[in-house]
Amino acid sequence: MQPAYEYRDGSLFCEKVALSEIASKVGTPCYVYSAASILEKFRTYREAFGDTPHRICYAVKANFNLSVLALLARAGAGFDIVSGGELYRVLRAGGDPASVVFSGVGKTAEEIDYALEAGIHSFNCESEAELALVDALAARRGQTARVAVRVNPDVDPATHPYIATGLKEHKFGIDMSEAEGVYERAAALAHIRLEGLSCHIGSQLLDTDPLVEAVDRMLELALRLRARGVALAHIDFGGGLGIPYRPGERAPDVRAFIALLREKVTGTGLEVIIEPGRSIVGEAGVLLTRVLYRKRTGRKEFVIVDASMSDLIRPALYQSHHEIIPVRRLPSLGTVVADVVGPVCETGDFLARDREIANVMPGDLLAVCSAGAYGFVLASNYNARPRPAEVLVEGERWRVVRDRESYEDLIRGEV
Ligand code: PLP
Repeated sequence: MQPAYEYRDGSLFCEKVALSEIASKVGTPCYVYSAASILEKFRTYREAFGDTPHRICYAVKANFNLSVLALLARAGAGFDIVSGGELYRVLRAGGDPASVVFSGVGKTAEEIDYALEAGIHSFNCESEAELALVDALAARRGQTARVAVRVNPDVDPATHPYIATGLKEHKFGIDMSEAEGVYERAAALAHIRLEGLSCHIGSQLLDTDPLVEAVDRMLELALRLRARGVALAHIDFGGGLGIPYRPGERAPDVRAFIALLREKVTGTGLEVIIEPGRSIVGEAGVLLTRVLYRKRTGRKEFVIVDASMSDLIRPALYQSHHEIIPVRRLPSLGTVVADVVGPVCETGDFLARDREIANVMPGDLLAVCSAGAYGFVLASNYNARPRPAEVLVEGERWRVVRDRESYEDLIRGEV
């Protein structure tokens, strides 16, 4: 069971709140997040760094709810953003712009300008053209922008191909072999200060070996750059540590990984930046859904629920596994092997396939586990479905931190 969730007298709780209570007051589908779980994960990273100069820039893309961002901002997190919209969210949530790094392969001039105006920590630039644009826009403002170049370490992260980013054929970063030339040419740009080196090789890594390989390659490159006179001040290793989605799956040990990082950077004087997303919020969340119907077609059994790929697209998009458990556990229920599917008109609309789950009936509640990362943020209005509510639990208190969308919301801005 994910931390902060447990059964009490057969009823599933998040911290001290019964999920059935939230479902009855807020309705379903509904995302629920545990504040304690998010903060605990963040603290684990922070404490593991000890006195090594570091910045933990939470990857906003994993879960961008304002209250989640505010929670992390108050705990001292920095933020990794990939769009002007994410920067807006961070600022509205009270995040410190001076602790924001801006990643992404296709930043627009407007987004770069907005980030310059806000005074972010640095840009992770992914091409020479982007370096030139940041320089030109900073010049227009009479500023000097801090930048890191994102390189592609060409390491296979052994994860789903859609979330692997650090191989030569991927669109991200610049080729490592070209890095020295890029830094040399960019030194001529008067309005950028080349002070960082960054990478991100992929997400949901259950084995840290590829990350460690990337770290080694990055540190070798950092030394070569310094030898050529580049005044590197920070090194950003991206995010990527995975979480357990399946029973028995083991996530990497954050403390051990950070301890290794610290050992490797000792003596370099480099500030370490990391951009964890999933490993901070993933296990903090569940998606609550209610069973609408049961039906059998041919040889297949279906549990039809009110959540769909429009609420949680990970199973359809990445064939990812989320455990699905009953909110009310009755041993007498027994189990059934079924597809758990939603109302969307796509065969790809499933939350689980051929899964042994509790033999739930219409009206029963289910919790789709470990849905705190890349859940709501990827939700859509497909089939004109209002996006679900989001709830944050803190001890015995809970509150709606995003209202369920209404039909009116669905047509806002349309004529
Ligand atoms: N940093 C960058 C540049 C990313 O692209 C991502 C995810 O795609 C992350 C950080 C966060 O990764 P994760 O959620 O796996 O920690």
